[in-house]
Amino acid sequence: MDCLFCKIIAGEIPSAKVYEDEFVYAFKDIQPIAPVHYLFVPKEHICCAKKITAENSGSVAKIFESIAKVAADENIESYRVINNCGEDAGQSVMHLHFHLLAGKKMGWGEQSLG
Ligand code: 5GP
Ligand code: ZN
Repeated sequence: MDCLFCKIIAGEIPSAKVYEDEFVYAFKDIQPIAPVHYLFVPKEHICCAKKITAENSGSVAKIFESIAKVAADENIESYRVINNCGEDAGQSVMHLHFHLLAGKKMGWGEQSLG
């Protein structure tokens, strides 16, 4: 399958790994928008949040467990988790991923939408 994040998970494209287990792979975003900007992806290919089902939602639970673990390990007290789903929301890679942002004071509302 021609999927960038599947290739990163398979090690065919290099990435700066921050976490890995049976279900989850996490790595540094190549164009960070915060001092900490990691991407958490399920190892199984799910295109987007619209395709989360009872059958595959275990991967999503594992992602949130791993986010909590990485944040604790790195002493990240405060953070934001973002999923962009679909083109208007800004999804550019069609493999489900959650952005972990931290390390700066973040705005909310209009100011955070750019
Ligand atoms: P989206 O815009 O789909 O929510 O997020 C995709 C993210 O993937 C972007 O923040 C972008 O910087 C990141 N990205 C795109 N290509 C690569 C890559 O080859 N390596 C890494 N580490 N991140 C990438
Ligand atoms: Zn994929």
